[in-house]
Amino acid sequence: MKITDIKTHVTMPINGLPWLFVQVDTDEGVSGIGECTDYGVNGHLSRGIEALKPLLIGMDAGQIENIWQTIFHKYDDLNSRGYVSHLISAIDIALWDIKGKVLGAPIYDLLGGPVRDRVPLYTHIQDYNSGAGDADAAADAARITKEAGYQAIKTDPFPTASGPEAGFSGPAEVERLDPKGIRQSVEWMDAVRAAVGDDYELMVDAHARFDVASAIQAGVALEHVNLVWLEEPIHVENHNALRQVRENVNVPLCIGERHFTRWDYTEILQRRLVDYIMPDVAWCGGISELRRIAAQAEVQQIRISPHDALGPVSIAAGFQVCMTTPNLYRQECLHTWFPVFEKLISPMFDVQDGSILPNGKPGLGIELNMDVVEKYRVDVDTREYLNLDGPNIEDATGQWIRANGGK
Ligand SMILES: [Mg+2]
Repeated sequence: MKITDIKTHVTMPINGLPWLFVQVDTDEGVSGIGECTDYGVNGHLSRGIEALKPLLIGMDAGQIENIWQTIFHKYDDLNSRGYVSHLISAIDIALWDIKGKVLGAPIYDLLGGPVRDRVPLYTHIQDYNSGAGDADAAADAARITKEAGYQAIKTDPFPTASGPEAGFSGPAEVERLDPKGIRQSVEWMDAVRAAVGDDYELMVDAHARFDVASAIQAGVALEHVNLVWLEEPIHVENHNALRQVRENVNVPLCIGERHFTRWDYTEILQRRLVDYIMPDVAWCGGISELRRIAAQAEVQQIRISPHDALGPVSIAAGFQVCMTTPNLYRQECLHTWFPVFEKLISPMFDVQDGSILPNGKPGLGIELNMDVVEKYRVDVDTREYLNLDGPNIEDATGQWIRANGGK
């Protein structure tokens, strides 16, 4: 079964949220879908997928590992973690989809079979910046989300130095939290905690924004909130800095969405620098690699919680690994996007009481609705997509994080 073509589909049914799907076709008429959405760089990724075609067309679509290794080593001059592992992820997911369809089995069956009957999720309410610093609204959103059946919530409670009107700045620079910012983040989390009760599971995401001193001060200030984890408290490049945070903050730590392939995780896990990891199946190296990273974490008695703030194909792919991973905490989602997923995929995920249940269908278990993909297809290079009509969660701003409405 030879690969005959590879296509990219960038579609944006929610303004500001372009999702990059990858379709692998074969000479037996079976196609698979993958995803490597990364909102700011979809253009680069689309061209990277295009550049793989001469390498992959004609290869045996059933040789998933051979293709994984071929791409990884072909680009090792670039360091095949990060950009290249995004490309690998989309291809790998699509190839597993093809294998499942050919064999008539869900991917989790091909990985050894399920160890659970559902995959528990955690979801989001608005962050401090996207929520304009309105802690009362965050508390309302948390209460509504809990009532909808979700059992765990994450939020970024940290204001930017320039105030919430500056929006979500992301990790473009290492930020400092001043005493006012720490007070505001504590007030945000205290409001959310009061809304959901003492025993509800809450996580805090710092989006790799802060210097060590800020991270330690903020982490200590939030200890009383009883968090499941503090996520990416500092910029990701320095493991000794992470150790310094760990030794000074009595909150479990989680990292992973900016770490790629098993090699990025080896030292972190062996040095026991974190308590949870959150690889993204669409970035870390696909289904094959998420499975291997999970096994590495299992050795260290650490749970995984796949990162997922992308389109529905990545959730479907992560779900397949979660079904067969013993050391799972929860899979991430943004449940406020599910009404859009419902239009974009068939069948929609079977979400019950904050978990996804398997549908038993082969491969990923879902198909893209190509009429919807085409209706919202965008050119990521022109950025004209920001002006398209669509079922907005908020007005087109380009600030994708603002779509975390929470209600
Ligand atoms: Mg995060």
